[in-house]
Amino acid sequence: MFSGLTEQLRNREQQGLRRVRQIVDSPQASHVTVGGQDYLAFSSNDYLGLANHPALIQAVCEGTQRYGVGAGASHLINGHSVAHHQFEEAAAAFTGFPQALLFSTGYMANTGVVTALAGRDDAIFADKLNHASLNDAALLSRAKFVRYPHLNLVVLEKRLAATQARRKLVISDAVFSMEGDIAPIAQLIALCERYDALLVLDDAHGFGVLGQQGRGSLHTTQELVAHSPHVVYMATLGKAAGVFGAFVAAQPEVIETLIQSARSYIYTTATPPALSHALLTSLRLIEQEEWRREALAQHIAQLKQGLQSLPWKLLPSSTPIQPLLIGDSAEAVRISQGLRERGILVPAIRPPTVPQGTARLRISLSAVHQPQDIARLTDALHELAAMP
Ligand SMILES: *Cc1c(COP(=O)(O)O)cnc(C)c1O
Repeated sequence: MFSGLTEQLRNREQQGLRRVRQIVDSPQASHVTVGGQDYLAFSSNDYLGLANHPALIQAVCEGTQRYGVGAGASHLINGHSVAHHQFEEAAAAFTGFPQALLFSTGYMANTGVVTALAGRDDAIFADKLNHASLNDAALLSRAKFVRYPHLNLVVLEKRLAATQARRKLVISDAVFSMEGDIAPIAQLIALCERYDALLVLDDAHGFGVLGQQGRGSLHTTQELVAHSPHVVYMATLGKAAGVFGAFVAAQPEVIETLIQSARSYIYTTATPPALSHALLTSLRLIEQEEWRREALAQHIAQLKQGLQSLPWKLLPSSTPIQPLLIGDSAEAVRISQGLRERGILVPAIRPPTVPQGTARLRISLSAVHQPQDIARLTDALHELAAMP
């Protein structure tokens, strides 16, 4: 009955593509324990080191005492707690939008936004290296799905100029999750204004890390650009914010449209209100603790300096995502394995997650790493580079 599946799984195994989950038995931090063993980890998206912050742990406890554990219902029935509502207001104010809406996950926010804003008669224009959730969202919407080469706005403009679609949506990661590079946000917004399109900007890796006080990628541009009515901004809350969830910030008409028709918002239970309560503390830490972004900047500089003379090159990135390009998949796995034997976790990312021939180590840095942690990683990589 399952012979097809068995064969598929065997093929995957034989191609060295079978994924396994490692069981982590510590909190997420610069060091984690896996199977009782301590590792120095460069593998999480906890860029600011908030996932295990005492103030957030305390806020979750306080939140559960005040609101209980489960939300009990979806937002439109009676699961919309004052804690959710307060977080939405704080997130809108922090990012500089009139309104924001909390989603359970970034994946759900992307599918909700894209399917609510585009349908059969519409067209979606997407960067080739966008996150999988944006691609899935576009397919689910049934709109015409047009992908342009990574960061190539000349091609994007040609496609925008040629379309007959009723409504036009441009969707892009702000910081690309496997490259660490940043989309040309101001130019994307200018194109959307010129062609009367909406820009859905996924800032999963920029929120908390980039922009003034961690307000996100839009705040690396001019004031005027950051407030364009053509932008629908999405940020996730399980990465730099250290908790869980996502929010969308936009003009009131867009948010109201999402409340009325985003299916991944309507047909699901609201997240535990205690998480929203903790997220208020997270926003405060993001805003006030500039030292975390400064530490990240120093780690990035130290890593770049330390890896200069390696045979492998870092991709050009100014974000905490620092991919080391290896090329060959088996070689990337060998190096990742070698690091692991030295007590260091860095995942090897292979096709189909990244284009053929571009297997890489995805080094991700956190504010709570120490300079000696970065030194340990660069030393280990030099040692592995010297080995046959
Ligand atoms: C992680 C990620 C998401 C999904 O967010 P979750 O809250 O983990 O579901 C969406 N987009 C990008 C670019 C991401 O990296």
